[in-house]
Amino acid sequence: MSEAFVTLVTNEDYVLGALALARSIRLSNPDHPLVVMATRTDVDLESLERAGCEVRPVTRISVSKEFEQRHARSALHAAAPYTKGLKPKFHDPLDNFCKLRLWEYEEFDRVVFLDADTIVVKDISKLFGYPEFAAAPNLYETLSDMHRLNSGVFVAEPSKHTFETMVEKLDVPGKFWRRTDQTFLESFFPDWHGLPYVFNALQYIYFNLPDLWRWESIRVVHYQYEKPWEKDHPRIDELKPLIDLWYSILDGRPFPESLDVQ
Ligand code: UDP
Ligand code: MN
Repeated sequence: MSEAFVTLVTNEDYVLGALALARSIRLSNPDHPLVVMATRTDVDLESLERAGCEVRPVTRISVSKEFEQRHARSALHAAAPYTKGLKPKFHDPLDNFCKLRLWEYEEFDRVVFLDADTIVVKDISKLFGYPEFAAAPNLYETLSDMHRLNSGVFVAEPSKHTFETMVEKLDVPGKFWRRTDQTFLESFFPDWHGLPYVFNALQYIYFNLPDLWRWESIRVVHYQYEKPWEKDHPRIDELKPLIDLWYSILDGRPFPESLDVQ
């Protein structure tokens, strides 16, 4: 079985995120490579190679002008406002669709995609035993979150045939994917398999559903909405232990014993 972790970076901010992710994988899952899909070469991709990543250039999937206009940052935020948290200025919704390119990587039997704003704090190799398409719920506030998946962590079986089918279904006239790749994947895989939420623990669980935040069982921490490397954001105080953890991994320190993450 050929297996890999895959992430995506399209600008310098997410390179920093991927660097912390790469270092966390080195500590927790050293037997699997991290492939980084990168849309630009004028960012510090060497830092990722030095951290042991395989960097692969990718281009955006070609879509119509109308599709681009509907999913441009300002248009998307106006049509489907984010009411629960803030998306950083450097987040471009159109870049999210590049994730679909991993289905072209047929040399891997299975891949586990991880957003560049995640860190892996325990062994997650068992994810490679899950079938396509497996993802955790978009759980961070109430039980009704369980109806939806979060596309920050998912298991996929690359296939060019699947990729081509996706491209055909993506840019349909008038179609608006309000949460970009996430809404698209939910529609493309309506009978998706549910992963336990600990494989994609969204940071808002930490203050909204604190009973669910048990360090001993959490495997992936996902810094959805505000990013830990943002200098100033409204949740910094509430999320301090999680932000400290992210920095300790970025700085190459081992997982802190006090958090019992290993
Ligand atoms: N991404 C990127 N550049 C962008 C937007 C997204 O590289 O401008 C990639 C990156 O891997 C990121 C993922 O797509 O982690 C999804 O975006 P994000 O994690 O910011 O969304 P959230 O988890 O907050 O919904
Ligand atoms: Mn994310």
